[in-house]
Amino acid sequence: MMYDVIIVGGGVAGLYLANLLRNKKVLLIEEHKNLGPIRCSGIVSKRINDFFDLPKNIIEREVNDAFVICGNIGVRMSLESLVINKEKFENFLLSRAKRNAEIRFERVNKISETYKDIVVSTSRKEYRTKYIAGCDGSNSIVRRTFLNEEPKKFYFGKFCYSLEKPFNYYSIFFDSIYSDLFSWIAPRKGRVEYGLICEKKLNEYYDRFITEKKPKDKKDDFFGVIPTGLCKCSFPSGVLIGNSAGMTKPLTGGGIIYSLTAAKIAAREFNKKNPDFGNYEKECRKIFGKEIKYQLWARKIYSKLNDKQKQKLIKILAKSKLKIDMDFPITNILKNHKMKVLRGLFGKS
Ligand SMILES: Cc1cc2nc3c(=O)[nH]c(=O)nc-3n(C[C@H](O)[C@H](O)[C@H](O)COP(=O)(O)OP(=O)(O)OC[C@H]3O[C@@H](n4cnc5c(N)ncnc54)[C@H](O)[C@@H]3O)c2cc1C
Repeated sequence: MMYDVIIVGGGVAGLYLANLLRNKKVLLIEEHKNLGPIRCSGIVSKRINDFFDLPKNIIEREVNDAFVICGNIGVRMSLESLVINKEKFENFLLSRAKRNAEIRFERVNKISETYKDIVVSTSRKEYRTKYIAGCDGSNSIVRRTFLNEEPKKFYFGKFCYSLEKPFNYYSIFFDSIYSDLFSWIAPRKGRVEYGLICEKKLNEYYDRFITEKKPKDKKDDFFGVIPTGLCKCSFPSGVLIGNSAGMTKPLTGGGIIYSLTAAKIAAREFNKKNPDFGNYEKECRKIFGKEIKYQLWARKIYSKLNDKQKQKLIKILAKSKLKIDMDFPITNILKNHKMKVLRGLFGKS
């Protein structure tokens, strides 16, 4: 059978795309039967409500405060967010995807293109399609087959749960002993999450963080890779969506909202009779490409700061009383709060 679209990967990006395709023969191929191991904290902005009316059991809690800490400095910042249960969220997306797509739990091993179609070979079978969507995460086989480019950076994340009573705020640590990016203690429903993301030395940082913060009754550790820094995400017969294209924020590693946004744009193109995937790439770059670029620059500057300089920066941000937009922090500051930040940087302290 010939499919109109094959989606490789059943994470947030692939499942949401399958939700949105209409009147097409769609096949979604995911290698893990239960959608794979937990590999994401599921902390998102309230923009998620623009995409769905989420069932209540998916939202673990609403958190609107963060304590940003470096050494002996700790300041409070407001940060409107939701903590969602990523497993339940993906299962919610899966049940809706099943209405539009055939789902197969197989691993894609090879993809090739003939003059008239694309052949996707899995551990079990060969499937043929007109168009393909690479939603297959950090080591995307779709990306490796069709594009000669990679996301700019790869971060590593590790976290665990502790059966403590949660407070209703995040503690975010910028101490360089715990990570070259940041580490966190986050409240969930009836438990607390301890974790970090970094570019290098994951286990060394993680062991130190866990030894010092001492989560109670810790059991399993969860691990994941976060590609960041948008790479080329379109080619004549398809697109990359989400982690496969580095659609995550270089300052935090968050990627759920960008993946949902990109899936929505991609669906518009796939639903056309003659899609032009260049339009998809242009639109993604317009909506979040600039923010990712700014964050890559900010990340470069951040990586050169020592803890004293980080403390100074934290104090400046606290003084400017900014409400952080989790998805577009830099473009938002540049648009609305430039003067406040400049006053913080150059005004009297
Ligand atoms: C530790 C950690 C914490 C995070 N925390 C947050 C957070 O708090 N907030 C936030 O917004 N984002 C967070 N993220 C990022 C976020 O999870 C992703 O950006 C987002 O879920 C988009 O994922 P995706 O669907 O593109 O890719 P993935 O979730 O990686 O899904 C890719 C899917 O493709 C499948 N696949 C891969 N190769 C093949 C193959 N060959 N054949 C078949 N199937 C294949 C995989 O099994 C997987 O299910 C975190 C990530 C990590 C690692």
